[in-house]
Amino acid sequence: MTAEAGGRKPEVAGRATPPASGFRLPAGSLVIQTSFLGDVVLTTPLLAELASRGPVDVVVTPQAAPLLANHPAVRDVIVFDKRGGDNGIAALWRFARSLRTRADGSPRGTTVAYMAQGSWRSAALALFAGIPERVGFDTSAGKLLYTRRAKYHGDLHHAERLWRLAVGDAATSVPEVIRPRLFPGDQERAAVDALLKDVPRDGAQLFALAPGSIWGTKRWPHFPALASRLAPLYRLVVIGGAEDDSLAAEIARSAGPERVVNATGKLSLLASAELLSRCAGLATNDSAPQHLASAAGTPTLSIFGPTAPKFGFGPLAPRHATIGNETLTCRPCHPHGPQTCPLGHWKCMRELEAEQVSLALNTLLLP
Ligand code: SF4
Repeated sequence: MTAEAGGRKPEVAGRATPPASGFRLPAGSLVIQTSFLGDVVLTTPLLAELASRGPVDVVVTPQAAPLLANHPAVRDVIVFDKRGGDNGIAALWRFARSLRTRADGSPRGTTVAYMAQGSWRSAALALFAGIPERVGFDTSAGKLLYTRRAKYHGDLHHAERLWRLAVGDAATSVPEVIRPRLFPGDQERAAVDALLKDVPRDGAQLFALAPGSIWGTKRWPHFPALASRLAPLYRLVVIGGAEDDSLAAEIARSAGPERVVNATGKLSLLASAELLSRCAGLATNDSAPQHLASAAGTPTLSIFGPTAPKFGFGPLAPRHATIGNETLTCRPCHPHGPQTCPLGHWKCMRELEAEQVSLALNTLLLP
């Protein structure tokens, strides 16, 4: 399924290079990014860079596609349901062949594919689609099918790693260039207005909490205690999916229901970014909301347990900080975070107290 871009789009922010002066044929790019939602957000600096060279189309999962709505760098958002209707070799072949043309039957004109997700399947998609140049990381599973292998810099932020697929290793990065960007539209603004319509206008600023994560050990358990500290200062909004509703209820019990807006399961990802743009700050686990806040420019404190910022997935908002239990020798213990602690004590999160996190927030939010 292809979602064609429509209407006037906002300007692209964060390009590394201005459009080339003088004539050159536009290079059509296809970015294949079928990883987690956060990875899609972190791909947007790459998209902005490529948009300065020609049209950019993106292949994403059905869950991630709405994130890129209104994005001025993207011409077509192409949905690849790798675990559903597009699963299997025959479906992969059919989907790849369909990439040659746009929804209106005109040639797509892709000359370069960027494998932001490194599986053999992504590489095969680009190969079967007949895209002559295929670029990805030298550590990726699909690298044998690439025509150019870029060095995977383990010491860089992932947003910068992805951006360097287009610009190479010699380019100089600046924070605003590798900061992700999303573009909530009227629909998202209306959804947030509706969510907040009954919130008393008493002058209290909004502050967001994101207590969820699909990885069990990444869920810091002291959000309710932090909420009771913050409630006298802010009106709290809890963001996340419908599965985080019970975490929001715990927070409301601790902070007082009148001080808490439960937004879990009520907003799309893009609307959550809009809500974050209206907040004074965010306290979050190492999960997708920190990337939404990076795009929204919201001051962010990210709490790390079994993972670490050095993996390259920390916050990128202009004001941000991270916190973790630095005394433990067992952390980080897993690239994503296991569902349960392999040592059984889960000290990385349990022993990180609300008071420490509250102090870190005070420092972050100092004017
Ligand atoms: S092994 Fe250490 S870092 Fe990993 S979950 Fe347990 S306490 Fe956390």
